[in-house]
Amino acid sequence: MNRPLYVAALIVASFARIACAFGEPARVASPTGVPDEGALRPAMSPIERDLQSSPLLVRDPALNDYMHGVACKVAMDECSRLRLYIVEQPWFNATMAPDGMVIVWTGALLRMRDEAELAFVLGHEAGHFRAHHVIASTAYRFSREQEREADRMGFAAAVARGYDPQSAVELLARMLREEKTRTGAASSAYAYHPPTRERLDAMRTEVARLTTHGNERNTSTYRAAIHPFLQEWLDAELARRQYAASVLVVSELLADAPPGDKALLSFYLGEAYRRRGQPADRIDAARWYAQAVALPDPPAAAWREHGLALRDAGRRREAADALRRYLDVAGDAPDRAFVEHDLAELQGHAQ
Ligand SMILES: [Zn+2]
Repeated sequence: MNRPLYVAALIVASFARIACAFGEPARVASPTGVPDEGALRPAMSPIERDLQSSPLLVRDPALNDYMHGVACKVAMDECSRLRLYIVEQPWFNATMAPDGMVIVWTGALLRMRDEAELAFVLGHEAGHFRAHHVIASTAYRFSREQEREADRMGFAAAVARGYDPQSAVELLARMLREEKTRTGAASSAYAYHPPTRERLDAMRTEVARLTTHGNERNTSTYRAAIHPFLQEWLDAELARRQYAASVLVVSELLADAPPGDKALLSFYLGEAYRRRGQPADRIDAARWYAQAVALPDPPAAAWREHGLALRDAGRRREAADALRRYLDVAGDAPDRAFVEHDLAELQGHAQ
């Protein structure tokens, strides 16, 4: 393994063991109030140094500024002690390390819908810090009660800032739906965390207790912040090869998307079906490619895949039209020669 990849793997492996995680099994601890606070720091610093030079670190200033701003809203007076990093990993996770290092994985950002959900997640991580949670030294994780407390604190912090409390419920309900697509072995990773079902019920109880609350979502601000990365994160989502989950994740993103993103998400939903490759999936894939190219601003690849799906269905003339359209819009795509070959073959047959 080359050095950058090794470091990236080390960071991910390290955090799976020692950090708190919002969606996955690791835990947080805060050095605050811990007598041997200094003892934890030497173990963490090399990881943070490696993280800072990691190719997986998302350095985009606008996205980092936005995330820091939301983190500071919910971290209250601990804001200045938190250091937030965005890491390219396509799973739903956010972690908090003992010395105030917060990591949010891009898979979590892809799965959130608005700033209120982000505020809840960051509030949960900051909650571990503010509550002085300490990792169990043998298990490298928080207790389930500490995770419950972090949820309550994240919820309270987001609500105090005027965010819509229903967002916490919607986020956990979405997590639960995705968990249900996993098979038994994969879901054992969640064994140390309070079950998502329980967390969801607890948040519903918290919402019911509120007598008054704000309804801030800042949906368009959130969407604008992540939009430059949407295509890249969707590619990473499919590269996980967990297609049952991806079909669900992308379907739900599509259902909630603004009109301008519907073509892109329709294409990726087609891709999720095509790559899964179960018997009926080709039909679903073809349907979503057709929808993608019928909407404004489809990605170029949607024309290619639409054309190939039409060819497979025996609709050669329409297939040739779609492939010509692909060549028109794809510029100097690396597969240009292949598609030209496919097109020539189709035209030969059509005559
Ligand atoms: Zn946690």
